[in-house]
This record gives sequence, structure tokens and C-alpha cells, in this order.
Amino acid sequence: MSSVLVVGGGITGLQAAASLARAGVAVIMTEREDRLGGNLKSLGATFGGGTPAPELIEQRAQAIASSSRVTVLTGTEIISLGGAYPRFKASLKNPEGTHEVECRSIILATGFTPFNPAAMKHYAFGKHPDVITAVELADKLKGDRLLRNSNGEQPGALVFIQCIGSRELRTHTYCSAFCCMYAVHLALQVKERIPRCRVEVLYMDIRTPFCAELEYETARRTGIGFIRSKPAAVRPRRENGGLTVQYEDTLDGALRFMETDMVVLSVGAEPPRDAASMAESLGIATEESGFFACEPAPVFTRAKGVFVAGAAGGPKDIRACLAEGTAAAAQAAIICKE
Ligand SMILES: Cc1cc2nc3c(=O)[nH]c(=O)nc-3n(C[C@H](O)[C@H](O)[C@H](O)COP(=O)(O)OP(=O)(O)OC[C@H]3O[C@@H](n4cnc5c(N)ncnc54)[C@H](O)[C@@H]3O)c2cc1C
Ligand code: SF4
Repeated sequence: MSSVLVVGGGITGLQAAASLARAGVAVIMTEREDRLGGNLKSLGATFGGGTPAPELIEQRAQAIASSSRVTVLTGTEIISLGGAYPRFKASLKNPEGTHEVECRSIILATGFTPFNPAAMKHYAFGKHPDVITAVELADKLKGDRLLRNSNGEQPGALVFIQCIGSRELRTHTYCSAFCCMYAVHLALQVKERIPRCRVEVLYMDIRTPFCAELEYETARRTGIGFIRSKPAAVRPRRENGGLTVQYEDTLDGALRFMETDMVVLSVGAEPPRDAASMAESLGIATEESGFFACEPAPVFTRAKGVFVAGAAGGPKDIRACLAEGTAAAAQAAIICKE
């Protein structure tokens, strides 16, 4: 019994499982959804000129499919987790039945859930079909054409509202780290598809570290507008089916109104619904944010043999997820050889 249980089949879990298989370690990977890939399933091109999401998933899914060491269980929920190093136990349930699994190490790669803005009625989300989340926009941009939900026409203007579900007291106080970078990237894709479309980004701060700053500079040169502001409301316009965004310009304090055809809410990240109960079962801690705590970061936890990788430990971009997936796999492989 020297296998590793990888919980979560997003890019982090896939990277960890593929690395373990290469190191000759047996892996059981559980994914609650029917398809592997996690949040990358909604994405096409990725920011910073990274490899497109479908390729990132496919390369790793193929590597694990061709390995006799990896068992992949999709559509599988974890009923219970327990035990301690060197013998962890998990009870799993899927349409085929219940499975009891024993393993020497566990990698938690459970990622994040995009913030659901359903309660944000003041932004007309759920009230007007052209107010959508960035996840929906990314999904639309995978296709050939970007069309409004309301009338099937191309938008002439599109406004991003940043920090949705992040950096505020009513939702989450932390910064979700990747939404400035993806907004810049998606805004550029909108401009590429529809050059005449006016694109504006309403932001508190733009956080585009390292090479993402170059994409931000390109976006500004391309004519995408960045307005430091506090958006207050989005209201449907009766006369033409469009939208009006009301915001405070935080540079001069003026209250302004902007007309647009579409509004995109740049949603942040939340911990998965069962993070707290999984942490309790395994004797590890969670952060105030609800994501798993790494002690010490990255990947280690206070329980020997249990590792946390990727967005399960808080919002991260793909590069960091790949690095942590590999690091957690290396640590689990060491544990299996002890
Ligand atoms: C709109 C948008 C655009 C983005 N664009 C980019 C980009 O261009 N470049 C970039 O670097 N990053 C981007 N990101 C961030 C990127 O999505 C994350 O870095 C990445 O998805 C994290 O991968 P992960 O595997 O750690 O988590 P996830 O993708 O969240 O995968 C976790 C997986 O674990 C599964 N899971 C959870 N709990 C359980 C459980 N109990 N049992 C079994 N399975 C479970 C989930 O179903 C999921 O499949 C973007 C994010 C968003 C929202
Ligand atoms: S990354 Fe940008 S949009 Fe996302 S929470 Fe942080 S500042 Fe706001």
C-alpha cells in the first residue's frame, strides 16, 4: 500500500497525478464532476501568452490515461476521509457504488469555486441577460463569435466591473489574485474579435504582476479604457435594451454614468463547499478565507502525508498551480518511499 490519493482533477491534480505516475507511484484521482480540467474547462487562450487551456488539460489527461499506475474516478464524491500517516482511508461514492480506498499520502487539489454574484441585484445580474460573469465571457470567447444574450447581436460596448466578491466586507476581504490578469486578457480578446467595440474596465487597483504588466500595457495601447472607480449600480435602459453603469470616479470624486451593451462581472474565487469538513477530518487547518492552510507554504500541512496544491490553498494562476502540483507530487513520492 504505497499509493497517493489526489482529490480534484483540475490542472493542479492532473499535474500532480502525471508527475507521480512518472515517478513510479500508484495514484487514485477523484473528481466530483464528470470531466477532468476543473475551472480551465471554461477557458480557451490563457493570459501571458500561456498554452491554451484545452491543450494544458489534454496533455496531462493523456499522460495519465496511458499510465497503468493511475486510476481516475470521475463523477465521484468523497463520503469520508480519515486515518493518519502512514494509513489514510477514504470512502468514495459514484454511480457504480461505494469504494473504500487506503493510501499513504493525500494531495488536496480541490481548487476554487467562482464567486456567484446572484445576490448582486444592484448590478442587474440575473435581471438583464447581458450582465454576465467573466466565466461566461471566457466560454463565449472559445467560440467564433461574441454575441449578446438579449438579441444575438455583436456588442458595440462592453464594461468589466472588477473585484466582484473580493476585497469587500460583505463577501470576501481577500484579493482573488487572478481576476485583473484575466480581465485584461479577455478585454484584449474582445477587441481582437470586434475592433469597433468600446471596452472599459472599472477597477479599484490593477494587479498585473511580472509579465502580465506587458499585457496590461498592450491593452492600454489598444484603446481599452481603464477607469479607477467605485461602481454603484447597473440599470437596464428601457429605450434600446442596453445598460447604464453608474459609478464614482475615485480620481475626482464625480458621479458618472456610462452606457453599454454588455457588463462583465470579474468574479473572484471562493473555497469549495466542503473544504472545512475535509480539513477537520484530516487534522489540518484552514485560513480565515476558508481555503486550506499550508504550514509551511507551499504544499505542506500540519498533518504528515497530507499536501495542499494549487488554488485549494487560495487563488492562484496556472503557472503557480503547475509548480505546486509538481512540488506536492515530489513530497508525496518521498513519503511513499519512506
Ligand atoms: C474567468 C477566469 C479566467 C481565468 N483565466 C486564467 C488565465 O488565463 N491564466 C491563468 O493562469 N489562470 C486563469 N484563471 C485561474 C485558473 O482558473 C486557476 O489557476 C486554475 O483553475 C486552478 O486550478 P486548480 O486545479 O488548482 O483548481 P480548479 O480548476 O478549481 O480544479 C479543482 C477541481 O477539483 C474538483 N473538486 C473540488 N472538490 C472536490 C472534492 N471534494 N472531490 C472531488 N473533486 C473535487 C473540482 O470539481 C475541480 O474539477 C482564470 C480564472 C477564471 C475564473
Ligand atoms: S485581482 Fe484585481 S479584480 Fe481580482 S480581487 Fe484583486 S484587485 Fe480585484
